[in-house]
Amino acid sequence: MTSTRKKIAALIVAGGSGTRFGGDVPKQYLPLLGKSVLQWGIDAFDGIADDVVVVTNPDHPQPENVRSVAGGATRQQSVQKGLAALRASKPDIVLIHDAARPLLARELIENLVAAAEKSGAAIPALPVTDTIKRAQNNIISKTESRENLFTVQTPQAFDFALIDKLHEKYKDKSFTDDAALCEAEGRDVTLVAGQPDNIKITHGQDLARAESLLSARNGDVRTGQGYDVHKLMPANGKKLMLCGVAIPHDFTLEGHSDADAGLHALTDALLATIGAGDIGQHFSPSDPRWKNADSAVFLRHAANLVMERGGIIAHVDVTIICEAPKIAPHRATMQERIADILQLPPARISVKATTTEGLGFTGRREGIATQAVATVRLPFISATTQKNEELKWAS
Ligand code: MG
Repeated sequence: MTSTRKKIAALIVAGGSGTRFGGDVPKQYLPLLGKSVLQWGIDAFDGIADDVVVVTNPDHPQPENVRSVAGGATRQQSVQKGLAALRASKPDIVLIHDAARPLLARELIENLVAAAEKSGAAIPALPVTDTIKRAQNNIISKTESRENLFTVQTPQAFDFALIDKLHEKYKDKSFTDDAALCEAEGRDVTLVAGQPDNIKITHGQDLARAESLLSARNGDVRTGQGYDVHKLMPANGKKLMLCGVAIPHDFTLEGHSDADAGLHALTDALLATIGAGDIGQHFSPSDPRWKNADSAVFLRHAANLVMERGGIIAHVDVTIICEAPKIAPHRATMQERIADILQLPPARISVKATTTEGLGFTGRREGIATQAVATVRLPFISATTQKNEELKWAS
């Protein structure tokens, strides 16, 4: 008899509109080193979950390449809607996860699935190690025993039929997490060792902490550089693209794509960090698909290759070498545009310009040259895996 692998589903609750740290973007959509907080959570289930559903607020931007359903007025109603959407695929186990926890590790998910297969319900928990005080008006009234106390996280794993049934049964009662429904039913919930760095993004400093934790996982620091030149020609109505920004000018850059020399140099710099060849290898200048193409596509592709390698982009720096147009008035817009393409905070992007004092081809205004440097952080991988990665781009 062949053993049948259990069917796993992931339900990610992302409907919250909490913008607790000032901005107007809900925190699950904030950029975190190359992708949104939500996307980190979705990607954590890659290769584990057979079906993934994200419960979102329809007024928010929707995540790509994943099924999403509209949430309800409360977290509990949102989970119920997500469970309803998963019914058709008949999963055995469902992992219910809050989008505000982007750092969950694969090992944690696997441990939860194994425990839930046995007991029907398993959640990640950490023993309380700090002393617990009860206080009123800032005055301590009691020191509580921390014995048998735990803080719990998500994802929480359940037998699908069980939790689906309990959410229906208790839909008029209010609970703060999904395990509480099992508790109300008198069902055992198993505790699995939680992951200390599976933090919840609540305040602004949590995002900085998440960046720091992700960076610490990626200690293999690489630097790549890129260089590009495009010829200037009379504009005739065609816009001059530099670093993703259209600049009004009498001249434009000649090229097969949109000829954005800034993004081309940056794309090459990123490809260099993972030894992935050059831009022409990935986007042939003779391929009609890239005729007048938006160079943001090339840059995003290079960033995705870095991400696929488990890497994160720490910093990028572009230098534009030309006499005209003046770059200074567009510098901030360029920085924001690159930040948007790479899903990085603008503080990790540098754009600057220089002239060559009238000397050479840039001085004669025959063309514009660009240079870029990218710093990425990769996870350390075995020499064999590394060899195979490098050979992939050798041809
Ligand atoms: Mg080019």
